[in-house]
Amino acid sequence: MTRSTPSRPKASTNPGPKRRPRPATPAGQAGQPAQKAPLKAPKSPVKEAAKQAELDAAKLALNWAHSARFFTTAAQLHQLPASELPEVAFVGRSNAGKSTAINTLAQQRQLAYASKTPGRTQHINLFHLGAKAAPDQVWTDLPGYGYAAVERTAKLRWQEVMAEYLAWRRNLCAVVQMVDSRHGFTELDRTLLEFVAPRVRNGEVRLLVLLTKADKLNRKEQAESLRGAQAVLAELATDEADIGVALFSSLNKTGIGDVSNILHSWALPAEQAEALAAAALAAAEAAAEADAAGTADLDLGNPPPARGGDGADQPM
Ligand code: GDP
Repeated sequence: MTRSTPSRPKASTNPGPKRRPRPATPAGQAGQPAQKAPLKAPKSPVKEAAKQAELDAAKLALNWAHSARFFTTAAQLHQLPASELPEVAFVGRSNAGKSTAINTLAQQRQLAYASKTPGRTQHINLFHLGAKAAPDQVWTDLPGYGYAAVERTAKLRWQEVMAEYLAWRRNLCAVVQMVDSRHGFTELDRTLLEFVAPRVRNGEVRLLVLLTKADKLNRKEQAESLRGAQAVLAELATDEADIGVALFSSLNKTGIGDVSNILHSWALPAEQAEALAAAALAAAEAAAEADAAGTADLDLGNPPPARGGDGADQPM
């Protein structure tokens, strides 16, 4: 796989900005003739089909994410069960919104426990996804890091555990790192990235950074947050690396559809994932051609996520 730029799933459950209604035609005002209502161009079937395909893919991915269930827990690395399933590790600073994000993605209230005492030694919790009899992915919720009150030895111990897990967990296929969108990468976030950097650079482990709590930022701040993260992640980019970054909010569901799509694609066999990506690309190109040919409808509802917009998976 030669992607330093991540795939950009087009489907999004993000409702996008509300459309401002057109000002009503001041029909019959004194001195002005009544105007006709603007004509609506016929909808393009190609664009409609592409939209439908996106919605179907997002629904499929969300249903799949909803299948997440507790598998096992481990107090120490050596207690983690060996597995052949692709494993996705969720990591992030204490309070970055990791537990809430996992629960939101799984559309469950209490799958991951929001830690009431940040920094407390936590277990590593594993979840299974996919069909009950044939799970197709593992989500591993790793202890949050960076809680100020934790004593130095505990911090060093954490670093060892994370470094070992990220460098050596054999079936680790991806890391989802939660970074508070208001603060960007902290020093500890960068330290964590360094642990996994060699495997990200050679394409062995994918990286998806979620800029959490995006609801707390306005559009301009969101764009700045994305740019800042991209600048950090650019240092990891190679032809082999698969790195993405997305704005995310558990509160208003920004990015949920896109992120579910990405996670789901990681569970599929490579050929199937590539076929899906190719179909999505073809649909997007067909829609763009229809637009260029002027056959697109005049529905200005949800603009496509702009690069740097809500939930957009950003190329490095
Ligand atoms: P964790 O320590 O990384 O697992 O963080 P939690 O999931 O426990 O979240 C920490 C705090 O952030 C809690 O008070 C959450 O309610 C809050 N939070 C989590 N996600 C969001 C979000 O998307 N938007 C907002 N505004 N708050 C959030």
